[in-house]
Amino acid sequence: MEQILEQSKLVSSVLPSQALGESEKLSLYCLRIPVEEGELWYHNLTGELLLLDYADLGLFETEGNLKDELSKRWFLVPKQHDEKKLADQIRTVKELLKPQKGNLNHYVVFTTTDCNARCFYCYELGRRRMHMTDAVAHDVAAYIAKNCGGKPVKILWFGGEPLFNHRAIDIITKDLVAEGVEFTSTMASNGFLFDEAMVKQAVSEWNLSRIQIALDGTEAIYNRSKAYIYRDGSPFQRVMSNIGLLLESGVNVSIRLNMDAKNADDLDALVDELAQRYQKYTNLSVYAVLLRDFGHSIGEFESWEQALSRYKALQERLINMRMGHVKYLERDIRFNQCMADNDSTFTILPDGRVGKCEHESEEGFIGSIYEDSFDQDMIGAWKEQLRIPECDSCLQYPTCIRLKKCAWHAHGCTEHDRAEMRINLTQKVLNEYERYKSGKVKESLV
Ligand code: SF4
Ligand code: SF4
Repeated sequence: MEQILEQSKLVSSVLPSQALGESEKLSLYCLRIPVEEGELWYHNLTGELLLLDYADLGLFETEGNLKDELSKRWFLVPKQHDEKKLADQIRTVKELLKPQKGNLNHYVVFTTTDCNARCFYCYELGRRRMHMTDAVAHDVAAYIAKNCGGKPVKILWFGGEPLFNHRAIDIITKDLVAEGVEFTSTMASNGFLFDEAMVKQAVSEWNLSRIQIALDGTEAIYNRSKAYIYRDGSPFQRVMSNIGLLLESGVNVSIRLNMDAKNADDLDALVDELAQRYQKYTNLSVYAVLLRDFGHSIGEFESWEQALSRYKALQERLINMRMGHVKYLERDIRFNQCMADNDSTFTILPDGRVGKCEHESEEGFIGSIYEDSFDQDMIGAWKEQLRIPECDSCLQYPTCIRLKKCAWHAHGCTEHDRAEMRINLTQKVLNEYERYKSGKVKESLV
């Protein structure tokens, strides 16, 4: 038996020691993955990863020392043991360790909910279109300065299309500088409205460190699916050239490839084009996501297995072309799912209302920049976690956080969701193992 990853520090410090029992069962949090050398055993509560070779596998049911080791490490547990209870106890300890509410330092600022594109799949279709006025932009800056407690602030410019009202960004950033507030910013944008001067300004005045730009395909497909409100030129060429300007200026550019059944083949061609133009930049990363259907007739795959396999194939291609990211197991304690259940992050809408979810611009607000306190019941509602009977025997339970109010999980948790999570977890474990093996090769060369 070989240890690939140790138990996480938090879990090993609070786990009681376990004695070898009479009759035992395999922990329900143990994920077993066959590999060439035997089997990987990953414990999703403790975070420990072991390799059992074929000799170990033949012996683990009968060989006392091995059974003892696996029991001590919680891979084998007594038959009557309530594992969920133990997972809940560890969750409670995590809650106690959660950083206490302090200053308000992370904001998602909607400069507008309007947009210069009309993507057919947009989850915001049909929502009210509002621009932030100059007066509100000044008030937003004053609010951030008042509540940051002298600490650095991070702002994500969001929309709609945030650049469709870049004047609000100018006002807020200039005011923050005047107030002596230290800040950096990131942006989720379609990238269309940039030009050379604006890219320079984004770096020098908006302190823009990262931008996420979504692409849906090569020129004809992109132009059709984005359906910009402008009639001249090719938006695709303009956005691609802006991506080049941003990369050249040192901004980290993260390109999100929106995939459905209709554009899956074309995305392969787009990846070739991206590689040809931008592969040399180390500040570029590209990743794929499967489009979610918010009732806007996206191209459905024949089955979720087919969707997942197309998605995985594209991700692997991106990794092999050195533009994608290999995902590893999270070793840090995860306290929350997203900004909605995080006490230091808030959205600010164009009219000054304050919310908890970057994908919610219509309801569920907790207050406004013009009020001194927030609606604590609504804050609590955003933190409520989804629990279903299947959680009791679910491998994912120790690490799963699903929020009831999250639109992404509005359908609850289906068998497919769990299967997809298992596939993703398996891939991360295999990536860890590959990393471990390549480290050993390097060590033996030294
Ligand atoms: S994946 Fe689904 S069943 Fe499993 S713990 Fe999370 S919500 Fe519960
Ligand atoms: S959509 Fe869900 S995951 Fe995204 S910010 Fe809102 S609550 Fe969080």
